[in-house]
Amino acid sequence: MITLALSKGRIFDETLPLLKAAGIEVLDDPEKTRKLILATNQPEVRVVLVRATDVPTYVQYGGADLGITGLDTLIEHGNEGLYLPLDLQIAKCRVSVAVREGFDYAAAVRQGARLRVATKYVAIAREFFAAKGVHVDLIKLYGSMELAPLTGLADAIVDLVSTGNTLKANHLVEVERIMDISSRLVVNQAALKLKREPIRRIIDAFGQALGQP
Ligand code: AMP
Repeated sequence: MITLALSKGRIFDETLPLLKAAGIEVLDDPEKTRKLILATNQPEVRVVLVRATDVPTYVQYGGADLGITGLDTLIEHGNEGLYLPLDLQIAKCRVSVAVREGFDYAAAVRQGARLRVATKYVAIAREFFAAKGVHVDLIKLYGSMELAPLTGLADAIVDLVSTGNTLKANHLVEVERIMDISSRLVVNQAALKLKREPIRRIIDAFGQALGQP
């Protein structure tokens, strides 16, 4: 049995065409079922639905053989025990620094003051500001980061930005782009050895569908 860990929503939807290219069709719609294990047209392949941040954990410990997750999640989790064969070029966005409209970020950075930064992406933020030599107090949040500068919890946030509409709707502005993000295929290294043939077939089919033979 080959188990693929996916999260519902954008990653699931954007993975379907790749699965199709590998001859795999998921038999249930995750938006319509409460099942967490979804069968496919291939009896030896199943999909498990997990939280996006849990995908690397499932794959690392062998709860799934493969998974698809954003580079952001991978950096925060660390990639120990994981093989990362493909950039799937899906769920693209960027990690950026944003502040309240009117906040003089450049001056705050220049003056060497400690910047209070709220984020879910603590590892990415820590490394980014350390490389710039900016002192930061990082405040870990799990969601609704846009609220932090509006309530005085933080001076800045580090968050995912796609269209920029969420920032705009909350009177925030993007002041620095930290990195581009897309989803990666992650594979359990032990599974790759034990189930080499079927896993290779999936990796190769995805690669071909992406034009990366
Ligand atoms: P946007 O308004 O299009 O800039 O989208 C920003 C919001 O969507 C933020 O709350 C992000 O956390 C979330 N978001 C955008 N792109 C992604 C992605 N690829 N994966 C997960 N969340 C995302």
